[in-house]
Amino acid sequence: MEFKKFGFDTKVAAGVTAAHYTTPTPIQAEAIPLVMQGHDLVGLAQTGTGKTAAFVLPILHRLMKGARGQVRALVVAPTRELAEQIHEAIGALGGRTGLKSVTIYGGVGFNPQVDKLKRGAEIVVACPGRLLDHLKQGTIDLSHLEVLVLDEADRMFDMGFLPDIRKIVKHVPAQRQTLLFSATMPADILRLTREILQAPVKVQVDTSGPASTVSHLLYPVEPHLKTPLLLELLRHTDTESVLIFTRTKHRAKRLEEQLGKAAYRAASLQGNLSQARRQAVMTGFRDGTFQILVATDIASRGIDVTQISHVINYDMPDSPDAYTHRIGRTGRNAKTGDAFTFMTREDEDMVRSIERVLHAKVERCTLDGFDYQKPAPARNTEFARPPRPPQPRRSQPKTAAPRQAAPRQARGKSQQVSGPRSQVSGHR
Ligand code: AMP
Repeated sequence: MEFKKFGFDTKVAAGVTAAHYTTPTPIQAEAIPLVMQGHDLVGLAQTGTGKTAAFVLPILHRLMKGARGQVRALVVAPTRELAEQIHEAIGALGGRTGLKSVTIYGGVGFNPQVDKLKRGAEIVVACPGRLLDHLKQGTIDLSHLEVLVLDEADRMFDMGFLPDIRKIVKHVPAQRQTLLFSATMPADILRLTREILQAPVKVQVDTSGPASTVSHLLYPVEPHLKTPLLLELLRHTDTESVLIFTRTKHRAKRLEEQLGKAAYRAASLQGNLSQARRQAVMTGFRDGTFQILVATDIASRGIDVTQISHVINYDMPDSPDAYTHRIGRTGRNAKTGDAFTFMTREDEDMVRSIERVLHAKVERCTLDGFDYQKPAPARNTEFARPPRPPQPRRSQPKTAAPRQAAPRQARGKSQQVSGPRSQVSGHR
């Protein structure tokens, strides 16, 4: 199938060509014609499936006709990063259309957003809290809205945004097209769907498992050996960008420091960073300044870096959904990726749940040459310091070769694991 078949306005079609999209992804092939026909739609699709263009392209096509300078489409997203990505996608795909999009989210100045809105935009991409502030202040007018999109609805629910969403919906015309995208369909989202969508059609793509281009490996390990194992794994693995997940922001920060000490270019993304710092970290990760990003689940929402080659679950996610979301950050857009998950004895139940979702048993691996028996230090901490390099003995000549400090150069060609790598296909 080709994009030509959709019959987009030529200026929208030019954006597709400029973005180098040749074939629609499955969600695009299914959803775009339905959205163009004006249906309300529930898209069950996770990040990485091309869902953004699945709603952006038909919206751009629709807005080519009709009034300019008033807000006619609103996309609500859970995080600033996701809002920025959608805004960027609109800019990339709609570069020739003359349509304007603005982002609205907290953590940055209110008045510059008011100015941007005053200058006129047809599309607003917003996070719920700040959008409500603008609605309360009367600095945004949604009375001409034609299309409402709720993106990553399940994440908005997780983050406690559903009451805000319901308030926002009260400010938009009842006569509208509503599109809701979600990776999962918990009962609360189903209820919301029934409340605010009219006779929606459902399009489902790859919801119950991560992208099939990802291979999954489990590394059973004692908690105190997680950091040494991580460093060993990184040393033995060819990686591009690596995204590591920890359970808490404190653990993310500590791990960033430990990776830094081991000469890796690492940064961490935590909930309490300023917006400017978050953006600097994301830009640094995207352009390769940081090779490793350590993040918590909340802080990682909306990360879209296509060259993530490895997702490493330093700490086990707290649900199969969280696993799917984390792993969805690699193997994007049909690239391959690896997902390594550290597993302690306490994690066994969660692993079984994840395997149920994957419809496959995930292979347990051990790293050859790694000392799994090393006892916990007296002060037992999961953040055991990385093993110190062997210190030169007094009797050794002073000119002994220094230790190779840069893991990037020291990295071998392939990872040495016992047994073949498992290629677990995501259930479709
Ligand atoms: P999304 O799921 O919307 O976050 O998209 C994931 C990635 O796929 C983004 O980097 C998009 O630019 C890219 N993408 C979306 N649609 C296509 C397509 N039809 N062909 C190639 N890449 C695409």
